[in-house]
Amino acid sequence: MALCREAAMSAVSRVLLEIRGQSQSPSSTKELLTSRVQTEAAVTDGEVREQQTTDINPVPQEESGQSHLQQGDLWHLLQLLKSTATLSEEELAGLSILMSDFLASLSSVQPSAKREGFATVPDVTWEDVGALQDIREELTMAILAPVRSPEQFRALGLSAPSGVLLAGPPGCGKTLLAKAVANESGLNFISVKGPELLNMYVGESERAVRQVFQRGSNSAPCVIFFDEIDALCPRRSGHESGASVRVVNQLLTEMDGLETRRQVFIMAATNRPDIIDPAILRPGRLDKTLYVGLPPQADRHAILLTITKGGTKPQLEQDVCLEEIAFDERCDCFSGADLTALVREASVNALRVYLKSQNSQTTSSGHTFTSGSVADIRVSNQNFDDAFKKVRPSVSKKVKCNEYNDCWVTCKMGQQCVILFFFSFFF
Ligand code: ADP
Repeated sequence: MALCREAAMSAVSRVLLEIRGQSQSPSSTKELLTSRVQTEAAVTDGEVREQQTTDINPVPQEESGQSHLQQGDLWHLLQLLKSTATLSEEELAGLSILMSDFLASLSSVQPSAKREGFATVPDVTWEDVGALQDIREELTMAILAPVRSPEQFRALGLSAPSGVLLAGPPGCGKTLLAKAVANESGLNFISVKGPELLNMYVGESERAVRQVFQRGSNSAPCVIFFDEIDALCPRRSGHESGASVRVVNQLLTEMDGLETRRQVFIMAATNRPDIIDPAILRPGRLDKTLYVGLPPQADRHAILLTITKGGTKPQLEQDVCLEEIAFDERCDCFSGADLTALVREASVNALRVYLKSQNSQTTSSGHTFTSGSVADIRVSNQNFDDAFKKVRPSVSKKVKCNEYNDCWVTCKMGQQCVILFFFSFFF
């Protein structure tokens, strides 16, 4: 509708300007027509945009160039708006929307889903994701394959796209993976943080959930990514208030509705898969759970190479060996995000040293700055050593906590076994 309206506006202004131009010299008519698009941009729904009106002069000044044309155009337009003369039948007969009107309007009308800054194609590619090969392959099959070979999928009777739940500690690349997969397939990407949809007013949270799915199907093909889905879909125990249960129910209903909606894929991420309502993991909803865990040593090396673009950004000194850093025991329990923080901290250290000793030839921290150019800033091993003092693994506590939980469960089971054993012995 907006496109048609814009095209109609464009046709009207074209016809008006043409009529206006007839009373002027042929060359000025041409000029007016060529600058029509700019005029249309300035006039939307009868209102003249601010930036263009600020310098409107009622009488066009005899200046050369674009600004003169625009001012002249606007002046004519204002005259038209002011004039009370009506158009004759013959003049109105020429009023029709041309293809060129539609083409010109296409550039000024944005899809509403994109206008709200909601659906985008992310700029993360597979090159920005280090390691995680297995998960990449799984995601390719779950999301890229149905987009690229829909016929084969239909032939196998696979009509509904499967949803994927990425579970694992924070900072291990779940969001990164979702963005990369959306980018690779050229799908639109709607990212929703679970708690964002929750609203204190009755019915608003469910409405927000419905809206997200509506936007998803409007901007299909599309990936809807729910970050922190545990906040949106906690396990229903039967004792909680109605609001949270209603949101879970709404989410489940919308996901079922997706079966009929083609090309809308659901991905979700959580740090707490244990507290998610099991109904959401049912086949047809988020039927594939992929664990994105803390990277082992070799993966850390791959991630470090990715983050530093193969050791080129930031530039590294000769003494830096990324493999050694990755295998260093100080890197234990480091997630991808921690490794990014480590490289960042080391780069900041290098910059600090550079700024301090810009004029000196050799510094105590292993650097050799020959000239004062920025290309000379290189990160040394010493910088990484200093960075290790500041950057700590962000998930160590959680992992320990989980281990503790596991131990606790084992202990409890052990206790029960011991009690059972005693009872059986006693009787
Ligand atoms: P999560 O969603 O699991 O909490 P993110 O995907 O938001 O984590 O990752 C946070 C940051 O950590 C990313 O912006 C990226 O810089 C870095 N990162 C994490 N994993 C990787 C990886 N495998 N390769 C490259 N960078 C990574």
